[in-house]
Amino acid sequence: MPRRDRISIQWKVFLYLIGFCILLLVVLWLLQIVFLNDFYKTIKTKEMQQTTQSIAKHIQQGNWEQITKEVSVQGDLTVELWEPNFGTLMLVGKLYNGAQITLNHWDKQTLMALTKQNGGSMARRYTGTRGLIWDQTVQESILYTSILTAANGEEQLLMVGANISPMDATVQTLRYQLYVISGIMLVLAVGLALIITKRVSRPIEALNRSAAQLAAGNYDVAFREGGYREIAQLSDTLDHAARELSKTEHLRRELIANVSHDLRTPLTLITGYGEMIRDLPGENTPENMQVIIDESKRLTTLVNNMLDLSVLQSGAKEINLQPCNITQQTQEIVHRIAQFCQKDGYQVVFAAHRPVWVQADIHRISQVLYNLLTNGITYTGKDKRVLVSQTVQDGRVTIAVEDSGEGIAQQDLPYVWERYYKVDTVHKRPVAGTGLGLSIVKSILQQHPHVDYGVRSTLGVGSVFWFSMPEIPPEL
Ligand code: ADP
Repeated sequence: MPRRDRISIQWKVFLYLIGFCILLLVVLWLLQIVFLNDFYKTIKTKEMQQTTQSIAKHIQQGNWEQITKEVSVQGDLTVELWEPNFGTLMLVGKLYNGAQITLNHWDKQTLMALTKQNGGSMARRYTGTRGLIWDQTVQESILYTSILTAANGEEQLLMVGANISPMDATVQTLRYQLYVISGIMLVLAVGLALIITKRVSRPIEALNRSAAQLAAGNYDVAFREGGYREIAQLSDTLDHAARELSKTEHLRRELIANVSHDLRTPLTLITGYGEMIRDLPGENTPENMQVIIDESKRLTTLVNNMLDLSVLQSGAKEINLQPCNITQQTQEIVHRIAQFCQKDGYQVVFAAHRPVWVQADIHRISQVLYNLLTNGITYTGKDKRVLVSQTVQDGRVTIAVEDSGEGIAQQDLPYVWERYYKVDTVHKRPVAGTGLGLSIVKSILQQHPHVDYGVRSTLGVGSVFWFSMPEIPPEL
């Protein structure tokens, strides 16, 4: 079900970007407008403290030039050195220009007393007005005072004053800049959102369209890769899913074709022979009846194989592991099959050096042997020979079924174990294969612990199907 109520990626990215911009602007606004005064004051007050200390040092060292320099760098300072008996010794700067205060002799004496009380240095904030009488603004200033002792032992009062309110013009400039920045950022955010969403959502939309085609049953659809790693990975995954789906679909079609073909051939024969025996006198011969019996058996095998495989693959039945003599079991099966095929000229040989015991489900392993052997006989070459061998190495026993048939092409080898897989069905001689035998073998062997299996094949020479399992001590 399409979820149309959900917000699209485009809008989401857009909203996130706009949100981010607004957040940035709020932070800027808080710093530049709301807290500007406090910031300015804090910074200025700190600066003033340092400046007063360094000026005091310069005075004591008689470094007058440095003082003038410092005042001109700071711009806004007033420095005065005052002695009670002599009056002002030095005055640099704009005479407390922030707040037009005037300190008379007595004020300075009081300040000196207060500074002394305060331990030799003191900071005072005061407000005053600034500008012409008809255009005044309130200014906050700070006055640092410090007691110095001259070389002759006289005490002197050092006063350093400065504005700590930012200039109106500065505030105005900042505010104006903020408006411009806000505008630029909003335009940029919109542009960026458009570019990003286009680049991100385009490939996703393309993938979505292809996925819709896949859902509609078009398994050949190709998922175009987008420019991003995640989208490329998603494309790969979807491509893989499409390939797997198409394989499954192919197998399903083939299964229906195979099964209906495999069922139809024996059924046609059974019906045909049945009608012939019913309608034609003298046709009720044991040979004709045998055809009906053989074809019915073939049907039974086919149906049984299908059932076996579905039971095995669903894991419905547990395997029953027991110690068993695999050499003896193989020998018996080879013997039985050899006798059965002898009349058609087949030669099935078993080669083993000694009896070997393994932990296995003997009935299931017998089915494996039976399937591998019937395949060997079915596909072996003109010499009609199949060799079954048992070898033991490093505590493992290997049973191999070798034929001298056409062999299997390297590219087909991994697939022969798959359900309903038949190599080159066109050129093969008509064999009653169902494509189920080897997948039953695979399922059974996979259920056994520590079992390996595989196939080696050379075109024109033959194939060897093998499995190996750990040997256990013999049970007597
Ligand atoms: P089938 O009933 O068709 O033999 P299997 O699952 O036993 O089904 O085998 C799958 C396919 O593997 C066969 O159709 C055949 O093409 C190939 N195959 C199996 N065994 C051999 C063999 N010994 N030699 C050559 N091809 C084989």
